[in-house]
Amino acid sequence: MKNLRPFEILLVGTVVVVFSCFFGLLVLRNNFSDSGFILVLFSVLIGVVTYLTFYFLIKKFITEKVKILYRSIRKGKFTNENEQFSLYDDIIENAEKEAKIWAEQQTREISKLREQAEFRREFIGNLAHELKTPVFSIQGYILTLLEGGLEDETVNRSFLERASKATDRMTSILEDLDTLTKMEVDALNLEMNKFDLVELVRDVFEEFEIKAKKKKIKLKLSKQFDPIFVHADRNKISQVLTNLISNSITYGTDGGETTIRFYILEDIITIEVSDNGPGIGDKDLPRIFERFYRVEKSRNRNEGGSGLGLAIVKKIVESHGQTISVRSTLGVGSTFTFSLDKWKNTRK
Ligand code: ADP
Repeated sequence: MKNLRPFEILLVGTVVVVFSCFFGLLVLRNNFSDSGFILVLFSVLIGVVTYLTFYFLIKKFITEKVKILYRSIRKGKFTNENEQFSLYDDIIENAEKEAKIWAEQQTREISKLREQAEFRREFIGNLAHELKTPVFSIQGYILTLLEGGLEDETVNRSFLERASKATDRMTSILEDLDTLTKMEVDALNLEMNKFDLVELVRDVFEEFEIKAKKKKIKLKLSKQFDPIFVHADRNKISQVLTNLISNSITYGTDGGETTIRFYILEDIITIEVSDNGPGIGDKDLPRIFERFYRVEKSRNRNEGGSGLGLAIVKKIVESHGQTISVRSTLGVGSTFTFSLDKWKNTRK
């Protein structure tokens, strides 16, 4: 009885009415002296009238109720007033199914919103923290200069230089933030073209020549490579290599080396940027691609950038539909690995 459809309940009710009618008339038969055929015909007629009357009444009732339900679960988008529900379908079970799917969607959406709210809170907190440090030092230098330091030849120049460095730091944070925000807005706005990855790596090496020399770090390719053509956004991949190579120098050990390797596997090129620097501990490793995340030591030294560099790298690689990963051992070094699509001659 539990799983009967409305139409089946109606049918059972009608059959009960037909039989009650038939037996009722059978009992009263003596008074009317009707033939058996008339009795059956009359009972069936009453059955048909009962069936049709209840069919339309129940259909109207259920349709009204189900429409209210659909209106709420389809976010008010239930505009098709002519949508017809048939008692022959399992409309209540269908409505139950749709309500269940809707409830699951709502739960997912709520937890996503909660995550986003948490992320925003953390993000704003981190941003404030990152900007506070340079602002406070600029404030300190200006105050000292105003309170007499300006006339003191031994400090005035160096304080101004330090204040200028702090503004550079703020600028770099804001620029990174701007890059990241822009990528979020037009994530798919990539200028995909064909270029030689080996040549790009050499160009980026050139840019870092002076910085690497200062720390006596050697920048090299693992071996001589022929041109490797990929299908990607050259400027954005240049940014990826810049950030990874810059980190390998910034956090690398004096006298160390940064090595780039390429692996070609069918249509995918894997690029590895390795250094023999201090490495990253297991505790920090899963978090280094997060915005503003910096390993405690580098945070204290106040060295390096904004903590946004690797978040930018990850965003760019993922917007190419590729992945990036890192492996690292403390005291041994770190290796960042990402993939790109090989250029295919068939590509238009
Ligand atoms: P930052 O702008 O501070 O360099 P990143 O997002 O580029 O931020 O890097 C996050 C953190 O990961 C850095 O602060 C640093 O502690 C750590 N890190 C990144 N690359 C390396 C590396 N090659 N060797 C050791 N630590 C690294």
